[in-house]
This record gives sequence, C-alpha cells and structure tokens, in this order.
Amino acid sequence: MSKAKIQAIRGMNDVLPNQSPHWQYLEQHIRQLMETYAYQEIRFPVLEQTQLFKRSIGDATDIVEKEMYTFEDRNGDSLSLRPEGTASCVRAAEQHGLLYNQIQKLWYMGPMYRHERPQKGRYRQFHQFGVEAFGMSGSTIESEVILLSAALWKNLGLSQYLTLEINNLGTPANRIAYSEALRTYLLGFKSVLDEDSQRRLDTNVLRILDSKNLETQTLLENAPVLEDFIDANSHAEFEKLLLMLTDAGIKYKHNSRLVRGLDYYNGMVFEWTTEELGAQATVCAGGRYDGLVKQLGGGDTPAVGFAMGMERVLLMLDELGRIPDAISRSVDIFIALIGDENQEKGLLLAENIRQALPSLRVLTHCGGGKYNSQLKKAYASEAHCVLVLEDDEVKLKMLDDEAKTEVLDCQGIISKLGNIFT
Ligand code: ATP
Ligand code: MG
Repeated sequence: MSKAKIQAIRGMNDVLPNQSPHWQYLEQHIRQLMETYAYQEIRFPVLEQTQLFKRSIGDATDIVEKEMYTFEDRNGDSLSLRPEGTASCVRAAEQHGLLYNQIQKLWYMGPMYRHERPQKGRYRQFHQFGVEAFGMSGSTIESEVILLSAALWKNLGLSQYLTLEINNLGTPANRIAYSEALRTYLLGFKSVLDEDSQRRLDTNVLRILDSKNLETQTLLENAPVLEDFIDANSHAEFEKLLLMLTDAGIKYKHNSRLVRGLDYYNGMVFEWTTEELGAQATVCAGGRYDGLVKQLGGGDTPAVGFAMGMERVLLMLDELGRIPDAISRSVDIFIALIGDENQEKGLLLAENIRQALPSLRVLTHCGGGKYNSQLKKAYASEAHCVLVLEDDEVKLKMLDDEAKTEVLDCQGIISKLGNIFT
C-alpha cells in the first residue's frame, strides 16, 4: 500500500536553497540599516494569548474577525499565532519594564500568520520586518521612521517603484467625532451600501472608506471629510511632518481616504505602495498609535511604527532583477577523497584549510566513489579548484581553463591556496 506524501499547509511556503540567498540578502540589508539608525532588535514568541490581539488590533477588524489562527491549547487557554508584531512588541516591552519613562527604538523580523486566501504576495505564513519607537511624540520621530523606510528602498534599488501615501487621523477624539459624522451620513444610504460596508456601519465605520465597491465610492464623494474634524495642534504637527519629508527629498501623496485596517492608529498613518505587484500593492504600512500601550495596561506612551511585508519586497527584488548575481557564491574548493585510507586525512585537511583561510567555502565530498565521478561532482559544484586525496598524495587541480594539476604536501596546499585566493 503506498502512503500519500504529506504536503505543506496551503499558503505556507518553504524557502529552498536557491531562494534562501535572496532572503539573506534582504535580511542583511535590514540588519545593517537598523545598525546605522541605532535601533535595537527585540524577539517575541509566535504564540500569544488571543486576548492580546483582540484588545489591540480590535474585535471588528478583518484580522481578528476572519484571519487569526486561534485554538485552545491543552490547558484550555485560547491562544493565537501572531498575525502581526506590534501587539506582541508592546506586550513584551511593557512586561519587561522597557516602556516606563523611557525612549525605545526597537525592530523585529519574523513570521506572521493570517488565514487569508493565498495568492501572489498574500500567504498564510508571511514575514514582516517592523520598527516600533516608544516614548516620543511629535513629528521628528515620525519623520525618522519614514526616512528609515525610504533609506531601505534606496539601498535595495527600489525607490523609483514605490510611492508614499500619507494621512492624518487626528487625535483619538477627532477620530471618534469623525466616525460619528460619517456613520450619520452613511446611515441615510444604508440600503445602497455593499454588505461588508453595512456591517461596518456598526463595527468599524472608517473602514468603509477603503471599500472597493464603486457605488459606495460614489457615495463617499459627498461624505464628511476627515480633515475637517482634525484639531489645530494635530494639523500643525502633520504639516511639520510633511515639510520635513519635503526637505529630505521624499515625495508623498496625501491620501485623505487612508485609514489603515487596525483600530489602534491615531495621528499620522502611511503606506508605501507599488504598481509592480498587482492587487497586493501595499509593501509597508504604519503610523502613530499613542493609545495602545495604555490600552494593554501600561502607562501613557506615545508610539509610532511600521511593518513591511518581506515576501512582497522579495517579489519586487526578484521581478525587477535587483538582486546582485554575486550573492549566490559557488564553492571555492572541492575536496575529493579516494579510498578508505584518505577519508580521515581529507576531513582533517579540510579543517586546517578552513582555519587558515576562513573566507573560503570548502566542500568535502563525503559520499565516496571513484575519481571520475567525484570530479564530475566538483565541476557541477562550480568549484574553482579540487583537491584530490589519492594513493597518499594530495593533488591540486584547477578547474578553470588551464586545468593544471600539481602535487603538494598539506602545508604546501594551504599556502598555495592562500596565494590563489588572495
Ligand atoms: P493588505 O491590505 O495587503 O491585506 P494589511 O493592511 O492587512 O495588508 P498590515 O496588517 O498593515 O497589512 O501588514 C503590513 C504589511 O505586511 C502589508 O503591507 C503587507 O506588505 C504585509 N502583509 C500583510 N498581510 C500579508 C499576507 N497575508 N501575506 C504577505 N504579506 C502580507
Ligand atoms: Mg490584510
């Protein structure tokens, strides 16, 4: 009886060896960027109490309503795989006393989980790089966070393919007043609204602004505008932010319909979008969320941050050919071991070479076989040279056009290799 092979869960991707250098390339750029801005890495578990996400992201959001992987563990506790990083980051920082009267500039990177319909740029396990800055109000930190994301696009050669959209949601009180006005207006047209929007009238009215439904969009043209509800201070701070962006040479589009899907935002919100990825256009999104720390049981703590979808950035890098060929390094030295008597000797020689020349990639063939079959494998590995241990001799054979072979002692090999590769 044949047994069916077990497959990965739909929407959860394996990263194979030919693709992992691309991930490493992006991850290295991110790490380096965070060094240059002096942000510190924080890591938190992939699993949290379900309550954490309900209280932060909001009960009436798509994420909590439809997308979370929630289950009871063996103790009967309701747990959820993290659908995003901000809530966990706040939980961890608060739990360990990092937020009390302090400034923190943090970043994280890792897998997130949402039960969505898988398609290009949308998966059930995906990865985010995120930044969260705590303890700072005002437009300076907001600018820094946006500048930092722009610097990443520049370093990756993607700037020309990304557009910054930005909006101001005002204070939490402004947001509530506007939501009320919008609800009152839309209630008059309830029967015309699409089904999702009708439901959102009661739960999350701002999200109706995001509706893709054409009739709903037409109705919205005459709806009250958020900008009219924003108080003078918030408005002035937002103007300062826009000015700083202009001075820094960052182009933006003020999109007054941009509200973001999560409940915890106030003040400025932004998204970086692209035309390169079809429907999955948002590559990076964030904003200010001053109320969240308190909402999760901490003190009043201003906060601002963003999350970037790493798969979407990688799709752009791949499709636009922005990943340098040089990142897929081939083997430098292939070590062929012929006969039982040479196995141990060869392994030890390889150890010595790695110690003496740590920048080289040394591949020891551990699978046995005759000289010719090992040589074929050496060529296939695209190694620059092969060391053959056979009959008590160590031969160095160059695999480039000259294909020269020399017989050398072990020390001689190491110094010879040093000369070849430096
Ligand atoms: P979308 O509108 O595409 O559903 P979102 O508003 O749900 O995005 P956020 O919660 O703000 O997204 O997450 C930030 C970023 O994470 C997104 O801009 C996107 O790049 C990425 N992202 C979100 N969900 C997914 C997913 N299911 N698969 C891949 N990337 C995702
Ligand atoms: Mg979504």
